Amino acid sequence: MQNKECRVPFNWPHMTGKELFYIAEAHFNGSLAGDGPFTKKCHTWLEHKTGCNKALLTHSCTAALEMAALLLDIAPGDEIIMPSYTFVSTANAFALRGGTPVFVDIRDDTLNLDENLIEAAITPRTKAIVPVHYAGVACEMDKINAIAKRYQLAVVEDAAQGVMSSYKGRALGSIGTLGAYSFHETKNVISGEGGALLVNDSAIVARAEIIREKGTNRSSFFRGEVDKYTWQDIGSSFLPGELIAAFLWAQLKEADQITETRLASWQRYHEMLEPLEAQGILRRPIIPEECSHNAHMYYVLLTPGLDRQSVLDEMKLNNIGSVFHYVPLHSSPAGQRYGRVSGELPVTDLTAESIIRLPLWVGITEEQQCRVVDILLRTALA
Ligand SMILES: *Cc1c(COP(=O)(O)O)cnc(C)c1O
Repeated sequence: MQNKECRVPFNWPHMTGKELFYIAEAHFNGSLAGDGPFTKKCHTWLEHKTGCNKALLTHSCTAALEMAALLLDIAPGDEIIMPSYTFVSTANAFALRGGTPVFVDIRDDTLNLDENLIEAAITPRTKAIVPVHYAGVACEMDKINAIAKRYQLAVVEDAAQGVMSSYKGRALGSIGTLGAYSFHETKNVISGEGGALLVNDSAIVARAEIIREKGTNRSSFFRGEVDKYTWQDIGSSFLPGELIAAFLWAQLKEADQITETRLASWQRYHEMLEPLEAQGILRRPIIPEECSHNAHMYYVLLTPGLDRQSVLDEMKLNNIGSVFHYVPLHSSPAGQRYGRVSGELPVTDLTAESIIRLPLWVGITEEQQCRVVDILLRTALA
């Protein structure tokens, strides 16, 4: 094992200690395919916690987004409105079906899709809006849902980073037509690779189950609703096996403590960095009143003119894992081939140039956080 004291890794996957215990239980249950007892426990937990109509575990958030594109019958030429400042999968899932991602700029406070720019991007071909809850902080969902309703569009929440976050008391992923969660090892609650699709519209639950089970009605067969199962629709194999679900079960049971611990470290950065913000070195994250977040990420936006690369270089020299992201999708090769831009994206471009993500994980110490902040202070002013 790496020594996590002298270096500060960017991420350190948190284990609750019960993962192997539940995996052993799955092993002795002798039921290893998908939708066994552990998967059912995870589904029930997610449904209770989020209030969604139906939760379905998937191999990843990417897979959940691909299911969403299938469920919405995305076809060549259909347009899907989304931020450019996001992970590849947000767009790729729809491009796979022949859809055209339409990139809209983000708000300069939350770095989320700017709800005031959505209407200008709508055309007769628009099918859906995909808000991405960046850093686990909610998009302005009331406005987004109202626009979607007016133009009869679906809303797919990319809530990959938003497990355990809420907007006006409602869990992220449970507010749009569909929501997608990620349990990738870099997220808060993990199973290595993993995800879930939250289906909020009861009218499409049955089809979601079919699409997830290779296009068959196997789920209703197992419930005894039909006496045989057959090919019903297009679909694929989107369900994880029981070992993954057993691992995830250990994590879900500790999701509250994981969130609390992360929030404490997040808050500590926030306080330590206040003087740096006051000195004009950087800007700290802004959390709107109506959002309760999960401390998925701590980032700072370096003041324009300061040299980000020298900060990152110094972090590296000191064994501190600090990174930036994203290459905005509209400036990526595939984004240019498959997508198009609506209006200008100045906030997206500026954010991509000035953001620095700091190490944050369950167990990071105050001393480690001090070292990170110290380097930021020293090099930004150098
Ligand atoms: C992590 C992430 C994804 C992809 O999640 P996977 O589970 O790795 O497929 C998609 N969108 C966003 C915004 C993410 O942060």
